[in-house]
Amino acid sequence: MKKWECTVCGYIHIGDEPPDECPVCAADKSQFVEVIEETPATGTTETAAVEQEEPIPPQPASPPSLLVKIYTLASALIVKHHLHPIMVHTPNGIVPMALIFMLITTWFALPLFETAALFSLVFVLISMPLVLFTGYVMWQQRYRGALTSIFKIKIGASIATVILLLTLIIWRAVQPDIVTTASTGRWVFLGGALLLVGCVGIAGHYGGKLVFGSRKD
Ligand SMILES: [Zn+2]
Repeated sequence: MKKWECTVCGYIHIGDEPPDECPVCAADKSQFVEVIEETPATGTTETAAVEQEEPIPPQPASPPSLLVKIYTLASALIVKHHLHPIMVHTPNGIVPMALIFMLITTWFALPLFETAALFSLVFVLISMPLVLFTGYVMWQQRYRGALTSIFKIKIGASIATVILLLTLIIWRAVQPDIVTTASTGRWVFLGGALLLVGCVGIAGHYGGKLVFGSRKD
């Protein structure tokens, strides 16, 4: 039995061959490398006990610009302090609440909840640049920016989230009584809000799979 590591997400597979697809990040077979367990060998000059030298970071040809320096520092902080999982609580927590508030308005004729839902969606939209930026940095830093199907789904769900947020907010601005007044349009609007919950849910589900699916650290 051999040990194979997914170079995208770190998933470890035990078997004679690497899997056709990583069960965590959906990277294909070619992304797996065999993990060679170092065993203390007798009769050789080099053993596993020899301490590994610190890898020498690549030296840039010219001094990095201020923008690059800021990006590098921000990236390190985002990864170290898990800012993406923190930021995704905004859409994942608030969007379902906004939908529930809209439903309360339609069922119990309480327009105040609809106003709260609108403010909630605006707040989520404002937070989206930071959600997307921290997600981009995590993808680049931790998963080498690999474009496997799981990342395509996450990117697609994020784009759909922004489009749906903009659509619902603009629609509500143009037609302020869309949720408070009974009409076919109201159900289409609520359907859009439900779709939005689905999009943030999918992005969150696959994010959780990436974080908890493989790593022991
Ligand atoms: Zn993987």
